[in-house]
Amino acid sequence: MTTPSPPPAAPLTRLVHAGKHPAFDGGSPVNPPVVRASTVLFDSVAQQREMRERRGDERLFTYGARGNPTSFALEDLVSELEGGYRTRLFPTGLAAIAMTLLSYLKPGDHVLMSDSVYEPARKLADSFLAPYNIRCTFFAADGSDVEEKIEAGTRLIYAECPGSLIYEMCDLPRLAKLARARGLLLVADNTWGSGCQYRPLALGADVSIMAATKYLSGHSDVMMGTVVTTKEAWPALAERSDAFGMTVSPDDAYLVLRGARSLAARLAMHESHGLQVAHWLQLRNEVATVFCPALPDHPGHALWQRDCKGSNGLVSFELQPGFNQDAAERLIDRLQLFGIGASWGGYESLVTLADMRRARSVADWSARGQMIRLHVGLEDPADLLADLAQGFAALAA
Ligand SMILES: *Cc1c(COP(=O)(O)O)cnc(C)c1O
Repeated sequence: MTTPSPPPAAPLTRLVHAGKHPAFDGGSPVNPPVVRASTVLFDSVAQQREMRERRGDERLFTYGARGNPTSFALEDLVSELEGGYRTRLFPTGLAAIAMTLLSYLKPGDHVLMSDSVYEPARKLADSFLAPYNIRCTFFAADGSDVEEKIEAGTRLIYAECPGSLIYEMCDLPRLAKLARARGLLLVADNTWGSGCQYRPLALGADVSIMAATKYLSGHSDVMMGTVVTTKEAWPALAERSDAFGMTVSPDDAYLVLRGARSLAARLAMHESHGLQVAHWLQLRNEVATVFCPALPDHPGHALWQRDCKGSNGLVSFELQPGFNQDAAERLIDRLQLFGIGASWGGYESLVTLADMRRARSVADWSARGQMIRLHVGLEDPADLLADLAQGFAALAA
């Protein structure tokens, strides 16, 4: 077959049509290029028809809303990292959670959610699912009461392990066994583990969600959520996500891909620095409890040892109950190297005041002290400890 030669074209026309050849003369760049597209062009009506027929099952570049070659590259990386069948990308981690719940639940269903979930996920279940007659019950963060809370209409168990803010561990393989025996779906938020330190699918979960906004991107400059599933769980997520027009920008996918290349190296350093800070905090009289699953006295330490490959830069600490919120705020405001801000997982240190009473409904935090969450970054730990020391000095003031 001969390629038809282009008709002679005026500069204006050439400007519109030049440079469309997809292949590169010479070699290829190391990183997948950013491919921006809404419209994707086909050679013929027949080809367009064929691609549309096949795109339900196959991942084909057919329209921007269905993904693009840059986002496909990131999907492959996440599937590889999490050990899953396929991955969908979402504009934020929260959107990934919302789409997962919408994909697998229908009116009349009941969902069991861990007491340790990321707070906006709790809010989503509490305020938005209820009007659609999807009920939610929270179970203890260690998973001990899951069995007794399963109802006839229960469809899904939603875990987050280690949990948000204080990193409770649950026995995910045990929950997977329970779920399988009753035909329930097991979903896990794996943002803490980021596919390196924890792998829910390998432990029996059907679906794993990550806020790639955190460690995968690693540079505090892009939002992204990922959902990876087993082969069996895939069709429901894919169909619902396509129906809702869920996609991500290729520029954002590029940034996450770029960040993810150094994920393991950054995590190792965050873990080392985090542990140095955790050990230092354990020696402070003002501190009641330090939370990090890698610490031997953390309640979930044995499960962490069994199921996790390492930890990260997240360390929370509870002040002695004698210190009120004003005191905690004085400590935080005095810090110079720890930025005050939401999110975590970037290269820099962060601090935030956590409201445990709002964040838990099964566990009772009414008599406990103020909770401060640190994200320990890649700075020199000695500088971070010096900064914390002068923060603690402000407690007395
Ligand atoms: C941050 C976070 C999310 C949400 O991610 P966004 O990209 O900020 O929407 C979900 N789960 C956990 C555990 C998180 O820490």
